[in-house]
Amino acid sequence: MKPYLISIELERLQTKIDALLKEKRELIDKTIKECEHPLAAIRELPYKPPINSFFTAEPPHLVCTACGLSEQGWGCGYKKLKHADNKNVKQITREEWAEVSLRIYNDE
Ligand SMILES: [Zn+2]
Repeated sequence: MKPYLISIELERLQTKIDALLKEKRELIDKTIKECEHPLAAIRELPYKPPINSFFTAEPPHLVCTACGLSEQGWGCGYKKLKHADNKNVKQITREEWAEVSLRIYNDE
């Protein structure tokens, strides 16, 4: 239950937040759709093996630094960034990947 003295203002702000998030999603979608994912802009986040039996391995990713599209290399493999698979693309750290990756492609 929201505090009643500010509930109307909170709802008004939430409506604004929802509209801005929608605008952000649409901008990212449009940018990714229009990007040609040039090979020079692709970076690879390498596979990370498990450090012990309590941690699982982390999959490799390819990410386009031009538009922020990222794809995981396991499962069905790369689709949108397939042209960069097994090419000599530069590697990035997990922190750099997290910063540049705006959308993880997952067939939707
Ligand atoms: Zn791209």
